Amino acid sequence: MGCISNSARKGTVTKANKSQESKVVSSTEDLQIQPRQFVVHRETDILKDYTMGPKLGSGAFGSVRVGTHKISGQQRAIKTIKKSSISEDQLVKDKFFAEVEVLKTADHPNIVRLYEFYEDQLHFHLVTELVKGGELFDYIVSSKNLSEPVAAHFFKQILSAVNYCHSNGIVHRDLKPENLLLDRQDSSATLKVIDFGTSIVIDHSKRLTHRYGTSYYIAPEVLKKNYDEKCDIWSCGVILYILLSGKPPFYGETDSEILSRVEKGVYQMKGATWDRVSVNAKNLIKSMLNMKPQDRPSASQCLESNWLILMPEATNQASILTAEALENLTSFRAEKKLQHAVMTFIATQLMNKNEVSQLSQAFRALDANGDGKLSKDELLAQYQSTMGLNQAEEEVERIMKEVDVDGNGFIDYSEFIMASAKRESLLSKQNLENAFRLFDYDNSGKISAKEIRNILGREVISNDEVWRDLVGQVDQNGDGEIDLREFKEMMLKLF
Ligand code: AMP
Repeated sequence: MGCISNSARKGTVTKANKSQESKVVSSTEDLQIQPRQFVVHRETDILKDYTMGPKLGSGAFGSVRVGTHKISGQQRAIKTIKKSSISEDQLVKDKFFAEVEVLKTADHPNIVRLYEFYEDQLHFHLVTELVKGGELFDYIVSSKNLSEPVAAHFFKQILSAVNYCHSNGIVHRDLKPENLLLDRQDSSATLKVIDFGTSIVIDHSKRLTHRYGTSYYIAPEVLKKNYDEKCDIWSCGVILYILLSGKPPFYGETDSEILSRVEKGVYQMKGATWDRVSVNAKNLIKSMLNMKPQDRPSASQCLESNWLILMPEATNQASILTAEALENLTSFRAEKKLQHAVMTFIATQLMNKNEVSQLSQAFRALDANGDGKLSKDELLAQYQSTMGLNQAEEEVERIMKEVDVDGNGFIDYSEFIMASAKRESLLSKQNLENAFRLFDYDNSGKISAKEIRNILGREVISNDEVWRDLVGQVDQNGDGEIDLREFKEMMLKLF
């Protein structure tokens, strides 16, 4: 076990990396639990842990296949890259590690989740969430053009992911319907942004100068190699145009024809299709396809556009799911750091996909400003509808104290999933036994302080005492390790 390899650190200097500067931890109280801690870099044969299935597609670096995780039985997507194909070219190498770093840190319902990362002599394997409903592109093709509520349902999710990326300094640079997958072929599907191979984490004082992107979606300033995160807003404008009309705004027989239209920024919204589209939708597209990037709205401003604010939800299923999730959130309690860690691990790595998908809908409904995290005010607005202000404030304070495990002042996506899931399914016998097996890395039947340190202590400076203390809180027979019975007992105290 270890962290992302040295070449990753050399490959990209990211904001994500900067925020991970080692923190000194002198007691178990100082430990912060974050989902990224569970994204482990394994230097073993992937076939030991996964059975490989059919191919899903191919990308710039290699192929993507379905893989079944042997312990949990979960199906996941495995992107395999030949080391030889990236070792010679520094640029390709940087792109590959940029994807690993960004996905490792991203914790958002509309960004594909990275589970783990394997490295053997010849290959790298990225193991991500399997998104089964195919590309948004195919969905648009099969539906010709979408109704405005359905287009808004998808577009809100794209903007929410982009807003989250931009507020964390991440610019995607290749947003297009082929990189947007649906969890099912259905108008109420959850959408996931994939392929962060061209993404970069920026410092706002710097301009970007590399030309990346795909002709139909590329912003004019990217062609001039002088741009910032607003290039993603342009691509979103193109995507919205396609969602509503089934056709791209900038077209042509060849790349150079398309690019010459992009450079001029000339497109039209005329004809029968566009006559049926609302003025608010057209205004939003126009603002996003503004030739001057500084005058384009930010992703958060787009989320507040009249078109999205006034659009009725295509489905009201979210309100039922939200009520259930809020009830579970209210009763969430965990005293021990290790209980938090195990629950975060199960929520991010082992939980049933259907359940996560339902909670993700509830999360999106609660996240009023679409920034991908829940603030005190967003929770307060919900609780105030069922109780008085004072009681609601008390409730929200308590929830923040219990659930905001990383202490950033917000309920992040994974924290929400962990705390709002039904306790009996999150802590099912199977999940607990699987979590135990995955923590027990050497398969000895017991979890040692060293094994816990290997997972939770990779990014901190600490002494052995901290990890012995953590084990000591659970170790009833005093042998210095945690066995399955002790592990289960610790977790079942949460009921
Ligand atoms: P990429 O290399 O990331 O561009 O992926 C290549 C193709 O593989 C994509 O266009 C998808 O069709 C498929 N694919 C990639 N990631 C996933 C995933 N997580 N779930 C399902 N299909 C995927």
